[in-house]
Amino acid sequence: MSNRYMQPLRIAIQLGFLVFMLYLGVRLYLFVQHFRTGGATPFVPRPDGVDGFLPISGLLGLKDWFAGGTINPVHPAAVVVFVTVVAVSLLLKRSFCSWICPVGTLSELLWKRGFTLFRRNLRPPRWLDVALRGLKYLLLAFFLYSILWVMPPPAVKAFIFMDDHLIADVKLLNFFLHLSGIPLVVILVLLVLSLPVRNPFCRYLCPYGALLGLVSLLSPVKVTRERTVCVSCGVCTQVCPAYIPVMAKERVHSEECIGCWRCVSHCRAQGALSMKLTGRRVAVSGTVFAVLVVVIFVGGSVAGRATGHWKSQIPYAEYMRLLGP
Ligand code: SF4
Ligand code: SF4
Repeated sequence: MSNRYMQPLRIAIQLGFLVFMLYLGVRLYLFVQHFRTGGATPFVPRPDGVDGFLPISGLLGLKDWFAGGTINPVHPAAVVVFVTVVAVSLLLKRSFCSWICPVGTLSELLWKRGFTLFRRNLRPPRWLDVALRGLKYLLLAFFLYSILWVMPPPAVKAFIFMDDHLIADVKLLNFFLHLSGIPLVVILVLLVLSLPVRNPFCRYLCPYGALLGLVSLLSPVKVTRERTVCVSCGVCTQVCPAYIPVMAKERVHSEECIGCWRCVSHCRAQGALSMKLTGRRVAVSGTVFAVLVVVIFVGGSVAGRATGHWKSQIPYAEYMRLLGP
């Protein structure tokens, strides 16, 4: 069966999650406003899903969980989302990046716009591309070393209960609401660069993507090419947002593969490209892949709620102390 429907389906899911995350952002803003105004505006419950934007909090919480046996009550959803996203990557490549992450969605919109404008996308020379890709691993190494190695468990726990970490979500919101100076310039440069270059932030700077890429190497599903059916047209290589030379591979083992299915969707030689399980015999259908991405991601939050590890237990009075006028 043709996989042409996969791209409209993936884009619909991406946009659905983008709208949902904007909704979470608005709810968080209204929640904060209630405290900023000393209670003059209506109270809106905090949307705990915003903890998904705190992967460092998730990593801290994971270490604290392993050390103490319980998930912290400050940002429990950060731990749940972190574990869920790692699980998605373990099973289904870096599909989080191309199906769910809002940065990936925005970045894809931009490089596609750039392709329309310039009729092509650029790829930095190989030496520069390799060097820049190393940056995200340096950032990842810094976070892993600092949190998992340098910080002893009591220091991690103390950090989790620090005022700044209690309102880490609000600080992130403020960062984007009051962008100025160097951060604004950096974001503008990245946005402009995202027109000619495919996913520069994800490819070069995102430590979360670096971690998911390494985890995804263990994924049992991978893009697999059937040499005898392939007509060597090169379309798969051209459309790959991760610049992977798919046509030259029999199985795509790259940590840069974001599981977007663009290569499979665009291949016109029926049966030449598919997502196959280890062993290369069983192909995973696009529908099953899409359903699994959504079900595992949403299922993580459902499991978090069901086990009481989703809602932050920071009391109302504490928020008033931290955010009030
Ligand atoms: S798009 Fe399909 S037929 Fe063309 S090179 Fe890639 S695998 Fe072969
Ligand atoms: S190899 Fe295929 S699935 Fe992987 S990133 Fe490239 S186009 Fe997407």
